[in-house]
Amino acid sequence: MPLNANVKDYLKPENLEEACDFLRENEDAMPVAGGTGISIFMNKGLMSNVRSLVDLDGLGLSFSKKNNDSLEIGSMTKLADMIQFTRDLNIARTALLSIPKEIRNLGTLGGQVFTAYPAFDMSVCLLALGATVNIYDGSSNKSIALEELYSGMFQPNIPPGGIIKSVLIPLNKFNNTHYVKIGKTGHGFSDISFGLSADFRDGTINKIAIAIGGGSLESEPVRLSSVEERLNGMELTKDRIDEAFALVNESKSIEFRSDERTSADFRKHTLAVHIRRVLTDFQSRGGMLK
Ligand SMILES: Cc1cc2nc3c(=O)[nH]c(=O)nc-3n(C[C@H](O)[C@H](O)[C@H](O)COP(=O)(O)OP(=O)(O)OC[C@H]3O[C@@H](n4cnc5c(N)ncnc54)[C@H](O)[C@@H]3O)c2cc1C
Repeated sequence: MPLNANVKDYLKPENLEEACDFLRENEDAMPVAGGTGISIFMNKGLMSNVRSLVDLDGLGLSFSKKNNDSLEIGSMTKLADMIQFTRDLNIARTALLSIPKEIRNLGTLGGQVFTAYPAFDMSVCLLALGATVNIYDGSSNKSIALEELYSGMFQPNIPPGGIIKSVLIPLNKFNNTHYVKIGKTGHGFSDISFGLSADFRDGTINKIAIAIGGGSLESEPVRLSSVEERLNGMELTKDRIDEAFALVNESKSIEFRSDERTSADFRKHTLAVHIRRVLTDFQSRGGMLK
């Protein structure tokens, strides 16, 4: 595949400090992890101002640590390896298995999270899990909620020279999690997607988080706060599910694209139907674990 880029230098730093220093001092440098996202940017001509790549391999960023409350996964962990680390998390497993195998074997968690691209499945599901991101800037570590990190597509709030070290997933916040991906084919990017995590017991939603993504979303992955606020702390009745359905259809925070295949309104309606389906499934199970 011909690559549309002006990259001249490739740095293989010995440690994270060296990588961060180089990135801070060279505005035209960019970290490279698995390179799968970068190959897309290059082919779209989005990397014409990048002159140097900084390789993050070999810096000790591929790991997983689990305790009773959380799972921490290093940013250089391959998506394929994440399948075994997240086997008890239905949402993450579903999202990971939907990514083409050849991409899973190259792409990393850090590359997914950094890009803030709505068609990247793990980003959507991590947003729905309330994950936090650990960033190192060469002198200090900072922990930031993924929700705050995302303020625009391709524009995470990461300081100059900052490198994502790991992602922390809370394990006890939710007892039901789902990921739904609707695409043109069963293999590849989504058109519409959402992750839904809930603490649902005895018919009541104690806490819910819904994150929306998909290749036809006009923004970074976003949380559906109007629906979350309506359902949090509430008994899940049919009326409430109908209200949630209406709120998704009316939501101003989600903007899908209209194109030759279908309209933005139809995409939003499809999303509402699928969210209603998941909530109805919850209700019929009365809070049993799935
Ligand atoms: C053909 C194809 C099909 C695909 N299908 C899907 C799909 O169905 N679902 C899906 O979710 N994804 C899909 N992808 C996207 C793929 O999952 C992402 O490209 C991948 O996860 C990005 O990881 P990477 O390691 O390759 O990132 P890279 O390409 O190396 O980097 C991407 C960006 O992240 C930055 N970055 C990387 N790591 C860090 C870090 N630790 N700290 C700071 N910045 C960092 C880089 O500087 C760059 O800007 C597809 C990609 C291709 C090419």
